[in-house]
Amino acid sequence: MYPVLNKRPNKSDSKPLPIVVIGNGPSGICLSYLLSGYIPYIKRGSVHPHPILQRKLEETPEVPIIDQDLEYLSEGLEGRSQSPVALLFDTLLRPDTDFGGTAESVLTWWHETHRAIPHLVLGRNPPGGAWHFIEGSMITLSQGEWMGLPDLQFKDWMRKKRRGLRNNRATAEDIAQYYQHYVAKKGLQKNFICGTVVTSVRKVSPDVNSSYAQQDPEGNSDSIWDFPEKDDDQIASGNLFQVDGFIKNTNGHQQPFSIYAENVVLATGTYDSPTKLGVNGEDLPFVHHKLSALEEAVKNKRVGMTSDPVLIVGAGLTAADAILFAHHCNIPVIHAFRRRVNDPGLIFNQLPKMMYPEYHKVHQMMKEQSVACPGPYKCYISLPEHHVLSFTEDKKCVFQDKSGHQKVFNISMAFVLIGSNPNLSFLPNNGIDLAIDNEQPVNSKRNPINVDPFTYECVQEKGLYAVGPLAGDNFVRFVQGGALAIASSLLKKANKNPP
Ligand SMILES: Cc1cc2nc3c(=O)[nH]c(=O)nc-3n(C[C@H](O)[C@H](O)[C@H](O)COP(=O)(O)OP(=O)(O)OC[C@H]3O[C@@H](n4cnc5c(N)ncnc54)[C@H](O)[C@@H]3O)c2cc1C
Repeated sequence: MYPVLNKRPNKSDSKPLPIVVIGNGPSGICLSYLLSGYIPYIKRGSVHPHPILQRKLEETPEVPIIDQDLEYLSEGLEGRSQSPVALLFDTLLRPDTDFGGTAESVLTWWHETHRAIPHLVLGRNPPGGAWHFIEGSMITLSQGEWMGLPDLQFKDWMRKKRRGLRNNRATAEDIAQYYQHYVAKKGLQKNFICGTVVTSVRKVSPDVNSSYAQQDPEGNSDSIWDFPEKDDDQIASGNLFQVDGFIKNTNGHQQPFSIYAENVVLATGTYDSPTKLGVNGEDLPFVHHKLSALEEAVKNKRVGMTSDPVLIVGAGLTAADAILFAHHCNIPVIHAFRRRVNDPGLIFNQLPKMMYPEYHKVHQMMKEQSVACPGPYKCYISLPEHHVLSFTEDKKCVFQDKSGHQKVFNISMAFVLIGSNPNLSFLPNNGIDLAIDNEQPVNSKRNPINVDPFTYECVQEKGLYAVGPLAGDNFVRFVQGGALAIASSLLKKANKNPP
């Protein structure tokens, strides 16, 4: 069913692909849909509630959105994203959703196969990205509808599956299944190669100043030209990438591969490298950095009602999910975090209580049951404004409070859930050169990859694109605008250079 990648190819038998997408989460899936020739037009007779946008849409109704001037269309739109194209695509798909409306999309989709651009989507796991790691029973922060991809409404899929939303929100398991279904339903499987891990992306370029230029480990100066003969022109123009990695076979073996691509899209998300505290003992075997480790420990009965408390470090939603899970299993918890409980920057202080009762409950526990003042909740103690100083081999954790006093607690296991960072180790210098501040690591919130806002092409490296949280779009409803911008840019490139 899936295309077979070349093993390490002979230099003469590898033909460059127009596009390789690395990462098969919602960003990669949405992009693959658009690159497969699914073209969005404005539905005849539809009226968008935004009057200025509606007027612009009426100017050239016969021209697909993907071929229109995205900068012009998105000018003046406002919403919960900084990206104009993300706002544009979102409002075309869900016109009045921010006002609580359920108006239908103003887009209609045509499958124009002649406009499809050959591409591959490489990913470590089944299509769906991060959603295969998130605990299946966890309920999304976003409304279920906002998790849907173009032209297959999430609520319709749920209805067919006879599943219901909870408080308008969905479970992570439903979301992961929906993404897999989407790939199958839209006939995209042929583009997806799952079980692949990309280990290196280098530019095959005569431009020695580019950090992406392929370096010959033996120092032969002419080796950068040592690539498929028929693509000498492409190499000479410096627009070919070499993507290396391995595929995991069903028997567990790793088979290396190497592909050449004219364009590479980074859609690898930000959940592969958990953030560390950087304290002594953090690598001890009872200290973990993923929520899934807690679920596994409960399943394997390594922790239970009678064990020493588990320590949960962090005050974000993943830490809150861990607390809810432990609470549900009656496992005693010590919860340590650095901020004040009333810090306005704390996510709980930003979520409406009505919509998120479970997170509100965690926040209440954090406030009412600190070590200093015991409250009504069993099996839970919060340590606000505490830093972890170290873990010791005999399963103790040493903390320091805001006045500098140290405290020691016995714990059974520790779960450090303080965020995660993208893993761009397959890029030169971990992709730091591509970031907005190119002296700091890439970070989806503080330092995303610097992309052109209307093409999502990296400012520092032509032919390289970034989408999703890597480009600063952190919610599924907004990653789709990046995919639209990239597909629009690549379609223009393809028209300029017909095969
Ligand atoms: C706990 C949690 C809750 C969330 N809740 C919501 C929510 O309610 N609403 C919302 O809109 N968003 C939510 N998000 C954010 C959402 O998950 C992301 O916005 C979305 O998944 C980003 O999609 P993506 O395709 O860019 O990346 P991802 O979904 O992260 O997918 C990227 C994929 O690429 C793979 N990959 C990485 N490196 C390589 C490599 N070298 N080779 C091969 N494959 C690689 C990764 O393993 C991953 O599978 C949540 C995230 C988390 C962690």
